Amino acid sequence: MRAYVGLGSNLGDREATIERAVELLSEADGLQVVAVSGLRETEPWGPVRQPAYLNGAVELETDLPPRTLLDVLLRVERELGRDRSGERWGPRTIDLDLLLYDDLAVDEPGLTVPHPRLHERRFALEPLAELAPDAVVPGLGTVGELLRGPMPRGGQSSSGTDP
Ligand code: ADP
Ligand code: MG
Repeated sequence: MRAYVGLGSNLGDREATIERAVELLSEADGLQVVAVSGLRETEPWGPVRQPAYLNGAVELETDLPPRTLLDVLLRVERELGRDRSGERWGPRTIDLDLLLYDDLAVDEPGLTVPHPRLHERRFALEPLAELAPDAVVPGLGTVGELLRGPMPRGGQSSSGTDP
């Protein structure tokens, strides 16, 4: 199965942390890193004042079901010292989001795929478009189409509600 993971960091040595995350992913069982996008600096969005992010995306080939893959992502976040005690949407050493998993739509407690805010986040869509402009975001169109279309509220904001 083909899966795409968003990478983000806005604390510490952002580039080194993201590179380390990709390395840890490539060492994980049940998946291979197929491609890595370029990294770009993006403005933070949302209610919390915080430093700029570095964002990118990776393409994975995997046998792991989505839930197991998410567990791998959360484990790598923990290994890289992500502290979840802070504010929601606050600064983080590393954020790994399962953006797309094949053409699957999943909506369970703790796991929503495609990532529920993918279509409204330019910083997530852009690196993804570098890897897979024709990948389909189930129910919404291709990555390229979403990027060319109107972006709600300036492209990076969130409604503040959360699944
Ligand atoms: P965000 O990445 O939206 O800024 P967080 O990283 O703080 O928010 O939230 C992570 C939580 O969201 C995880 O504990 C996980 O259970 C849940 N979650 C639901 N769907 C996904 C997904 N597709 N990718 C990553 N986390 C997800
Ligand atoms: Mg996340």
